[in-house]
Order: sequence, then C-alpha cells, then structure tokens
Amino acid sequence: METIKTDVAIIGAGGAGLRAAIAVAESAPDLKVALISKVYPMRSHTVAAEGGAAGVIKQGDSLEDHFNDTVAGGDWLCDQDAVDLFIRQAPVELTQLEHWGCPWSREKNGHVAVRPFGGMKNERTWFAADKSGFHILHTLFQTSLKYPSIERYDEFYCTDLIVADGVCQGVSAIEMRTGLMQLFQARSVIIAAGGAGWMFPFTTNGAIKTADGMAMAYRAGVPLKDMEFVQYHPTGLPGTGILLTEGCRGEGGILVNKDGYRYLQDYDLGPPDPWPRNKAMELGPRDRLSQAFWHEQKKGRTVGSRWGDVVYLDMRHLGEKKINEKLPLVRDLAASYVGADPVHELVPVRPVVHYMMGGIHTNIDAATPMPGLYAAGECACVSINGANRLGSNSLTELLVFGKRAGEHAVEHARSAAQPSESEIRQKGEEARKRVTDLFLREDGGENITTIRKEMNETMESGAGIYRAEDSMRETCDKVLELRERFSRVHLEDKSNVFNTNMLYTMEVGSMLEAAHAVAFSAINRKESRGSHQRLDYTARDDGSFLKHSLAYYQGEVEPRMDYLDVVITRSQPGQRVYGGSAK
Ligand SMILES: Cc1cc2nc3c(=O)[nH]c(=O)nc-3n(C[C@H](O)[C@H](O)[C@H](O)COP(=O)(O)OP(=O)(O)OC[C@H]3O[C@@H](n4cnc5c(N)ncnc54)[C@H](O)[C@@H]3O)c2cc1C
Repeated sequence: METIKTDVAIIGAGGAGLRAAIAVAESAPDLKVALISKVYPMRSHTVAAEGGAAGVIKQGDSLEDHFNDTVAGGDWLCDQDAVDLFIRQAPVELTQLEHWGCPWSREKNGHVAVRPFGGMKNERTWFAADKSGFHILHTLFQTSLKYPSIERYDEFYCTDLIVADGVCQGVSAIEMRTGLMQLFQARSVIIAAGGAGWMFPFTTNGAIKTADGMAMAYRAGVPLKDMEFVQYHPTGLPGTGILLTEGCRGEGGILVNKDGYRYLQDYDLGPPDPWPRNKAMELGPRDRLSQAFWHEQKKGRTVGSRWGDVVYLDMRHLGEKKINEKLPLVRDLAASYVGADPVHELVPVRPVVHYMMGGIHTNIDAATPMPGLYAAGECACVSINGANRLGSNSLTELLVFGKRAGEHAVEHARSAAQPSESEIRQKGEEARKRVTDLFLREDGGENITTIRKEMNETMESGAGIYRAEDSMRETCDKVLELRERFSRVHLEDKSNVFNTNMLYTMEVGSMLEAAHAVAFSAINRKESRGSHQRLDYTARDDGSFLKHSLAYYQGEVEPRMDYLDVVITRSQPGQRVYGGSAK
C-alpha cells in the first residue's frame, strides 16, 4: 500500500473543503495539503446551490437581526457563540469571494444585490442569479489553483480515518481509476465530505451525498451531533427531487393547493404580517412550510399526480422578464423535468429532504473531540443551524467554518507529535482489509439495491416530516436489521477499474451508519423542535431537551446517546417568531 505523506489531508473538495484548503495555503504556504475528492471538485454538491448566501450588507439590516433570525429559526438549539462568530464573519467572507472574482448580482447603482429568504427578516442573501453555488464553487476552485502547496487527488474515495495513539493521523482512500488503496499520512485531517440526503427516497441532493464523512468519523468514535434534525425543503420537483430554490418565493412565487387556494394563510407560520413587504407566508421557515404540506395532504387538498401528491408553485404573475433575469435555471429545470413553464403554467412541487442540520460534533474552531481531526460544511455540526437551518446560511457557513478548520488544522499540524509510523501502517492495513474483504465475500443472498431501497422507505416512514414512537421504533429496528444484512452483501463486479458496484456498496454502508444515528437520536428526543416534529410529543420541552444530542457508535447494537448543553449567550428561548428574539 502506497503512503502519501502530507501535512493537512482534506476529505472533500466542495465549498467547505476548498475554502479550508485555501486557508491552509494562505496561512502556511510551507505546509502541504492533500485535497481528496471522490468527484472532480466542480461536481461537488455546492455547485447545485441556487438561491444564495446570507451576510449583512444592506442599510437597514443589522448583525443583531441576522443573529436573532438564525437563533429563532433554529428553535434555540444553535450555539449562540458560534452564531455570533458566523454572522460577524459572513460579510467578510462574502466580500473576500467578491475579491476573488465571484460575479454577485448587482443593483443598478452597482451595489451588491440581496434578496429575501425564508425566515430572514431583512434582505441579506447575496446571489449570482439562481446559480450562486456554481459561481461560488468556481471562484473557490479557481483561487485554489493559485497555490502550489495544494495537491489534488480527484476521484479518490476515502474509506477510513487512520487513528493512531488516539490522534487522527491520516485517511485511507481508493484510487478509483486503478482500484489501488492509498494511505494518506497527515498531521491534521479535515472532513468536508458534505451531507447525507440519499438516505431518503426523495431528495434535492446530488447522488454523491451519501454520508461518507459522517460515517468515517462515527465509526472512529467521534460522536454525531443532533442527527435527528433533517430538513425538508418545501419546493422540490416531484419524481426527481430537484430543487426549485427558495428564491422563487423570495421573488414573489406563491403556493396553492388543488383549489387554487393559498393555503399557507391557514397555518401558524408566525405573526400575521411581521414584515413591511407583506411576504410572510411563503417565506416562513422550511420546516413549517413542509409541515403545512403534510396537513394539506391529510385534508385531501393536495393534487394527485403521476409522481404522487403535490401542490403548485405559482410564479406566473412574476412575468417572463423577471423570471428570465432572476430565475433562469428554475425555468429551465421546471420545463425539462416536469414539462411546466413557470411563465405560463403552475409548477407541481412537494417537500423533499434537503439538508442535515446534524453532523460530526465540532466546537467553534471546527475541531472534533479527536485530536488532529477537524470538520466543516454540511457534514459537521458546529452548531449554527440548531433544529432548523435558515436558507442561505449554509453557503456562508462553508466559508466561515471552512476557513476556520483550515487555520486550526495548521496550528495542530505545527505542534503535532512525531507520527506513530508503525501504528499508522497497521491501521492502514486494517482499512485495506475492510475493502478487500468485500471482494472476497461469498454470495450471502443479499442485494445492495434492495437494502438501499428498504433504507429509503424506512427513513421516510419513521424519520420523515412527522414522527411518532411506533413508526420510529420500526425504523430503528429496521436499520439494525439492514446493517446486519449489509454484512452479507457481496460484490457482483470484482474488477479494479472504476468499480461502481464496490463504490455504491461502500456508500450504502456509510448511509446505514448515518441512518442509525438519525433513527436513534430521533426516538430519544421526546419533544417537538424545529424539523423534529413528533405527533406524540407535540410541544417543545426546554426543561429536558434544550440540549444537543450526541450519538456514539457501538458497533452492531444501538448507539450510546449523550447530551450536551446548548450555548446560550443573549437570546433566551422564546416563541418562534420570524426574525425575532424571544420577547
Ligand atoms: C440543490 C441544492 C441547493 C442548495 N441551495 C442552497 C442555497 O441557495 N444557499 C445555501 O446556503 N445552501 C444551499 N444548499 C445547501 C448547500 O449547498 C450545501 O449544504 C453545501 O453546498 C455543502 O457543501 P460542502 O462543502 O459541505 O459539501 P459538498 O459541496 O457536497 O462537497 C462534498 C465533497 O466531499 C467529497 N466526498 C464525499 N465523500 C467522499 C469520500 N468518501 N471520499 C472522498 N471525497 C468525498 C465530494 O467529492 C465533494 O467534493 C443547497 C443544497 C442543494 C442540494
């Protein structure tokens, strides 16, 4: 097994991974960075983000408002020290992107344009038409090319963290082109491997979001935090799950049911008219809007379609000019995937899994409890998103905490003790064995596609928009069963070159680990908060559950659950109202 020695190994080259790599290269040009990604960096999911990135810039807005919106939107489960740092660094990072060449959309007078976004009281979402993620990722990728210390390993699939003497000292990876295992020996490791939406049947996520980073950390003993909080986005296209950005509603699109009725007026989404622009309904937080769909469905007021039940997004009143200028991708996607041109027609939509609020437990420095290991981006939980992330906070989070992860990984790399070479090699061999064993397995009568399908179904039924003890118990049991059956899956394709059968199998294995943490964290949280809504415990219970959950891996059995106090600095838990602190 070849060993590649580096100073900082970064798993993932999406927004968070690239921002971390640049931070290392800028602050420590003498340190080598290995930037490892299972896809070419520009194919990372960040590229698909449409709506934009939040940061206070406009007159009339304030850091305090961004803080309060984020904390209230997260149902007070956010760590407020992290939110404080985040909202302060947000405009700095977005301006930095501007200097690196990000083509933000502009107002006529030349100022950066900002658009409204759900749960944000003021306009503060920077955007580049509806291709914000594409332009952000492109800007970061091109900037990263300037630094000779960043060595890229594209199409390398990471499998296991290498932990020696209790310290993370590297990662093992399969070079997909050759099938060879490589050992990256590093003084610090940053996981920036993105989310886990593919655990569920309908998701806006790209097919590469399979929880690999979370699973690697989990198996290595690092807890996964707040995994029960899974965000549904209210406007995905049925069938494919492709996202129609919140920007559609930000620009004035409305949601109607089968009677053409703007049904959100019937639901408690906050005070009647909190905003001067009277845009509350469709711009309520995502969890509340997705829950409203569920109720409409129960009342028989959704529309049956060949893709299942839907409601309609009506953008016709926006006019062709505005749609072409502000939402060109949305027009294209709706026409291509459901055959509806938003300029003239209603577009069918339904809630789809969009984002994981939970992830690898880190502190405000992006450090995990394991020395030498850092995490940032969607795979991490720092936590600024609490029980429900506000749209457009994630892209900014990648920048703020990606940078921080890079800087703190540098500090550790400089001070780390001498590597434990023989133990590292031994751990590398164990990682290799895990993969070669897959190739050697006899046919155990299990099919990986069936396992994935059953996982998808059980996650939707037990850990979907609404949850209850019985269905969650079934999901917990099913996940344990699927993990056991997974150990009997064998590979049909035993070749080395781009063996997609093997990679797919490993990805399903990762998702089963994350599903394990989601299911057990959910059943143990006996309250409703943010995206975690229980039919049997309908109220928020601050007395018992104003706490982060931590799921610790224990092998075949259920995880050990632990809890951690939320950091509260200045906003005491209160009623969730738009953009308001508790008053
Ligand atoms: C359709 C869509 C639209 C969105 N729109 C917005 C928006 O407008 N505003 C907003 O704030 N947020 C938005 N989000 C959320 C946001 O885009 C994501 O949370 C964010 O981009 C995740 O970035 P990341 O760097 O953490 O991960 P990603 O961009 O997903 O990158 C993950 C990286 O990890 C690598 N990787 C994963 N596993 C492995 C492995 N085993 N080995 C090696 N490499 C691995 C991948 O190759 C990839 O490079 C949107 C999300 C989606 C899906």
